[in-house]
Amino acid sequence: MHIAVLDESKCHSKKCNHECQSYCPPVRSGIGTITFPEETVYPLITEDLCIGCGICVNRCPFGAIKIITVPDELNKDIVHQYGENSFRIYSIPVPSKGITAILGPNGMGKTTTMNILSGVLIPNFGDYDNGGSKEKVLKKYSNSILGDYFQNVYDKTKKVVLKSQFVDQIPKVVKGTIGSILKNADEFGMADDIIAELSLENSLNKDVKSASGGELQKLAVGMALIKDGDILLVDEVSSYLDISERIRVASILTKLAEKGKTIFVVEHDLAILDWISDQIHLVYGSPGAYGVIVQQKSPNKAINQFLDGYMKEENIRIRKEKIVFETRASTRKIISPELVHWSEIDADLGDFKLKVMPGKMEIGTVTGILGRNALGKSTFVKILAGVMTPNSGSYEPKLKVAYKPQYISTDFEGTCEDLLFKTLKERMSDNFVKNELFRPLGIDPLMESEVSSLSGGELQKLSIAMTLAQDADLYLLDEPSANLDSSTRMEVAKIIKRTMENRKKTGMVVDHDIYFIDIISDELMIFLGQSGVQGIARGPMPMREGMNTFLKEVNITFRRDHNSGRPRINKPGSSMHREQVSTGEYYYS
Ligand code: SF4
Ligand code: SF4
Repeated sequence: MHIAVLDESKCHSKKCNHECQSYCPPVRSGIGTITFPEETVYPLITEDLCIGCGICVNRCPFGAIKIITVPDELNKDIVHQYGENSFRIYSIPVPSKGITAILGPNGMGKTTTMNILSGVLIPNFGDYDNGGSKEKVLKKYSNSILGDYFQNVYDKTKKVVLKSQFVDQIPKVVKGTIGSILKNADEFGMADDIIAELSLENSLNKDVKSASGGELQKLAVGMALIKDGDILLVDEVSSYLDISERIRVASILTKLAEKGKTIFVVEHDLAILDWISDQIHLVYGSPGAYGVIVQQKSPNKAINQFLDGYMKEENIRIRKEKIVFETRASTRKIISPELVHWSEIDADLGDFKLKVMPGKMEIGTVTGILGRNALGKSTFVKILAGVMTPNSGSYEPKLKVAYKPQYISTDFEGTCEDLLFKTLKERMSDNFVKNELFRPLGIDPLMESEVSSLSGGELQKLSIAMTLAQDADLYLLDEPSANLDSSTRMEVAKIIKRTMENRKKTGMVVDHDIYFIDIISDELMIFLGQSGVQGIARGPMPMREGMNTFLKEVNITFRRDHNSGRPRINKPGSSMHREQVSTGEYYYS
């Protein structure tokens, strides 16, 4: 069976010669595999008449077509298809006791699945002409757990609450302070408890327009909790939160699951996903074309298979290379020439003060920066980038810096190609930029797209590519993993590391995803102190010292998975946690 998917945002049929149609072998033999119906400007590909040669894919000048061959038997599992040459999803997660997670790349239907589970989208089982109906759904799943689930959702016997992933959109849809928004929604008198649980006390008077990403995320979680639903659908809960806050929110969800709530989560931070889930559905497919939700597995098995890139039971490879973690801290001495050193630096920002202890970075290395939110990590990055001047202290020598900010603006009017050309000029055609950055980061297919139309993940990849493509001595990347799925995070980590090593450059990366920081870093810089009041930065220091310093501060320990060597968060208070705290080995146990 051949799946044909047309990305209408990329199809510019008035700017091409309809190469898809003119080169299609069946069309050349008089068969109407690709036609241009009168009512639309887009080509229509009849999948039953397609031989899967892929010529249209290669001939389309805008990369608008995907043709994928999948097993015929998949068709019996189709749950929803948006249109004739459109995205489709196969299978659906089964509601289970505890927290059920969905893990897979972006663009493979996780949000579609959440919308179906919430009752917002009625699945059509591939019958996009006639559409779906609640009756058909209940008939299809009759006498099954899914049947009972949808019956409860559709007749509102169970209340469904959805926590959206798009927390940065909150200021566009609600007005007021964080406190007033929560109080106004407080139908069941739960606001005070939720504010305390989320540690939002100091943010209550903050207007949403000036709230940080972390505050918006906690507000979104608070708004979901305050509705006191029976079924909670949580789409990405860790974005913008530091690791302590991630665990705080994960603990709240775990307690709700223990009270009998049905909870589904989509999450890309693998350490948190491992900690929070009772079962995981892996997802595979092709972004924007199709997604298959596979049967649930235990969290350990699912994450290990995800990292291996191979699902044994399904005999399906989802990635060429394994993702591996160092089980021991590197004892390699960094002997590269020094790039930059700094004296003690002080920055006084009114209510907040930052002190950075003297440090240095070497050429060809990546320094990971770890610390809770609001301890001055971005401030230090801005000082090195020359965007901000400290009250005292300095760094030597002056550097050419490429800087990727934490929040990426979509204000640019024009296409990705326009933006890249404006920033990079002739470097756009540099072989390294084309082959080592644009291709692996998937930038080429985005070239014709308007910057304002990009998804959060696409915007992040564009921004990373644009930063790494610049000619600089030091590359500062503030939260490059935000909005990226787990696979892309690991790929981005490798690209950043490779760029620094091969091009003899130096990188500094602020991030909260501990797996990402582990993979990317040669050394660590740690920010300690009191959030929003005073930050003290130390390092760079070796990985073991850095992990122990940071994790001691947040009282989190990691054990190692026996099979994969992957770090796993210990339950607070567990014997393993207590033992590791007593030996001072918080990460490389
Ligand atoms: S799919 Fe490509 S070749 Fe076909 S009409 Fe659209 S832009 Fe032109
Ligand atoms: S894959 Fe080949 S047969 Fe199918 S639509 Fe494209 S060109 Fe035609």
